[in-house]
Amino acid sequence: MLLLLSLFVSTAAFTQSFYGRTAGKLPYLNYGLGEDRLGGAKMGFLDSNVLVKVVDSSKGDYRVQLSKTHFAWLPKTAFKADTAIKLQPFYLTSSWRVYGDSAYDYVNVSLTEKLPYASVQEIDPARLVVDVFGVKSNTNWITQLSTVKEIKNAWYEQVEEDVFRIFIELKHRQHWGYAINYRNNTLQIRIKRQPQSLKLKKLKIAIDAGHGGTNLGADGLTSKVLEKEYTLKIAKEVEAVLKKKGATVYMTRLHDTDLSMVERTMMLREQQPDLLVSIHLNSSGTPTVKGTSTYYRYIGFRPLSQAILKRMLELGLNEYGNVGSFNFSLSGPTEYPNCLVEVAFLSNPEDEQKILDPKFHKQVAKKIYKGIDDWLKSNR
Ligand SMILES: [Zn+2]
Repeated sequence: MLLLLSLFVSTAAFTQSFYGRTAGKLPYLNYGLGEDRLGGAKMGFLDSNVLVKVVDSSKGDYRVQLSKTHFAWLPKTAFKADTAIKLQPFYLTSSWRVYGDSAYDYVNVSLTEKLPYASVQEIDPARLVVDVFGVKSNTNWITQLSTVKEIKNAWYEQVEEDVFRIFIELKHRQHWGYAINYRNNTLQIRIKRQPQSLKLKKLKIAIDAGHGGTNLGADGLTSKVLEKEYTLKIAKEVEAVLKKKGATVYMTRLHDTDLSMVERTMMLREQQPDLLVSIHLNSSGTPTVKGTSTYYRYIGFRPLSQAILKRMLELGLNEYGNVGSFNFSLSGPTEYPNCLVEVAFLSNPEDEQKILDPKFHKQVAKKIYKGIDDWLKSNR
């Protein structure tokens, strides 16, 4: 009886599906309603104005149906209902164009509507795999021009009745990033090429000092110093070393500035750096927990975080680890390789003493530089 009643209640709460489009600056899909300190696990970002079908609702999220068998959760703030949408009986892909301009390679896939998609990086061989949902292939023509420099091959499979999978095989082992957007109803996948020269002098490196302004971060166990101040001190040392080596350095902040994660992401998107290093200091409720760690979200960006961790360990810090699938906002962008460095623990007395020492900031900066340089050399 109870079961029947609850079934009745949940159906009554949501009787009819409706349609709309993604909206806002950085719409994204989550796999489920799970959550931790950094939010739910993300399926990926979407462009705005992408058609979505809402089939259920839960607090701040809509459950959206991507295809017959694929579902995801979309924040309500990233959705705009639209009753004027004229649904087509079916959606089709059409011809592709694979080409390059002076800066990037592109795969343009014509569609009859802006449909949701999700992407993953694969390694060995390096490939980008993009699923487009709710669409059937009518692609019988893939024009490939010699202006491409990074794309080795591009093809597709209709992996489910209404899931169209795009494969893009890269020439280099290392992923340098990509962006997916719509140009009218054409899905455009922009591939970042491996830079022609992997010398620091030729590269633009973004450094993000964590927190700032009213966002204080953690504080020191005994000293009570603020994370936001020490991330900036260390970031400035990293900037100094990289500039000395001839790199172009972009700092997300140079002062005690309030910057949201969306603001940082948009600034970085505009800057189009070759890579990003975010600097934070760790904290734990258990004071014995200590050490250094690096983090990445996507497998194709892992090698940078491994190279930096290897050098950081030369400072005699405990190994806290190399952490993957990490849900940190600035690990989310796919446009450039990125690495979060949690230098050491402010909540551990030994690590804290190191963090307070200006000499240590210079040593950390040198190790981060060395890690970047090792990684660049491994890609030459
Ligand atoms: Zn932090």
